[in-house]
Amino acid sequence: MKKITIVIPAYNEEEVIGVLYEALIAMSQKLPLYAFEYLFVDDGSADGTLMHLNHYRQKDQRVQILALSRNYGKETAMIAGLDYATGDAVVILDADLQDPPALIEEMVYWWEQGYDDVYAKRRSRKGESWLKKITSQRYYAMLQKTTRIPLQRDTGDFRLLDRRCVDALKQMRETQRYTKGLFSWIGYKKKELLFDRQPRAAGKTKWNYLNLINLAIEGFTSFTTVPLRISTVAGFIVSIIAFIYMIVILIKTLLFGSDVSGYPSLMIMILFLGGIQLISLGVIGEYLGRIFNESKNRPLYFIDQFNDKKIDPQQKKN
Ligand code: UDP
Ligand code: MG
Repeated sequence: MKKITIVIPAYNEEEVIGVLYEALIAMSQKLPLYAFEYLFVDDGSADGTLMHLNHYRQKDQRVQILALSRNYGKETAMIAGLDYATGDAVVILDADLQDPPALIEEMVYWWEQGYDDVYAKRRSRKGESWLKKITSQRYYAMLQKTTRIPLQRDTGDFRLLDRRCVDALKQMRETQRYTKGLFSWIGYKKKELLFDRQPRAAGKTKWNYLNLINLAIEGFTSFTTVPLRISTVAGFIVSIIAFIYMIVILIKTLLFGSDVSGYPSLMIMILFLGGIQLISLGVIGEYLGRIFNESKNRPLYFIDQFNDKKIDPQQKKN
């Protein structure tokens, strides 16, 4: 019997655990030929999430609870889940039912047809503001232009991964993770399914614009060095213009003498050059920051408890 692990990162999701569990049961009843494991990754929730999960674990041993030592963010919660998943395939699912568990049946079908990564693409995005839709659309278009790996648009982390993909992802131990790009980076045979993304079943979104901007910068700095290239090119262009202008001024002064005007042009030059320099420094700083973080070589996360067992920091699981 093949085993499927459902990895569910959950952070302060006490309101939805009940509905989610029911939905998982309904889904697994439709797939009687498979064994299931519901691996909840409690990402340092401060509410009753863990208590609710323990309640379900008591009646259903398929419920596995991996409690991280603090809130690390969804990207890290996912890799922790992948590290502990034991299934032949792993489905990554949001706790808030925005990703319908009913779609898993179809994912499994395509998995059996030989696909390694069956991902769900949003046909529509209900309950999201137009600003979020537009920014995300522009962002993906820009990122795609600057990187060679094909990125999947309107696709979240909701997908079924074959064991091969999971083992590949587990080898990517970068600390600032942009998992969406990693899914593409590892390659393997991909299949796209369409679905309508639902509004949250209950509770509030954990994302705000600051988070999203951070993730967006992560996307660029972890998958392309094009911003560095742009700042180099901009530097060259500006230097050439400045050089030409220098010669123009020199000749003008030699031929006609100096007339002490030129305050506007001077100001424009200083401001423009200053701006370009600051932007370039910022871009370099972003990459430098990444190098700094990666060079510390810290573990990605620590586990507080796995099911009822306390986990010591030195215990390695992969
Ligand atoms: N999540 C998490 N850690 C966090 C933030 C979110 O594990 O620090 C989980 C959250 O519980 C949910 C999933 O990531 O299962 C997606 O989060 P959310 O629904 O808030 O994001 P959105 O769907 O609005 O993009
Ligand atoms: Mg959500």
